[in-house]
Amino acid sequence: MTVRRSDSFDNLVDELHRRGLRCTINRRRLLQLLFSSRRPLSRAELLDRLQPTPDRVSLYRALRDLEAVGLLHAVNTPEGTRWGLRSRPHAHFTCSVCGRALCLENTRPPEVELPSGYLAESVELHVSGVCPNCLDLGDLTPQ
Ligand SMILES: [Zn+2]
Ligand SMILES: [Zn+2]
Repeated sequence: MTVRRSDSFDNLVDELHRRGLRCTINRRRLLQLLFSSRRPLSRAELLDRLQPTPDRVSLYRALRDLEAVGLLHAVNTPEGTRWGLRSRPHAHFTCSVCGRALCLENTRPPEVELPSGYLAESVELHVSGVCPNCLDLGDLTPQ
């Protein structure tokens, strides 16, 4: 199954308009970067890759606005928060060596049975491990 990237990126921009947000340059760049990276990125990575680099406040604002309308999702990893494009609920993987996060789009978080009277707001499934890049580096010598 192939997704034509330009098509889906245009869909994202349409969605932005449909949710009443203007497609500002910061929002657009952010969506574009996350769309092409195909994995959730940290603030540091975003600041590093966005050209020209936005100031921190603009970046935080863009992240907050896009998350509020559901176009982005925040991923809480042991190494800090990452942001990825929205999609249906799914699990995440974080590399414990380099800290890279990955959306596991085909794995759904488990159904959790709560005692009566409790209301779940979010369920996250997080896998920690080592990514192929870090495995190849061979710096996993046991302490
Ligand atoms: Zn890694
Ligand atoms: Zn994700």
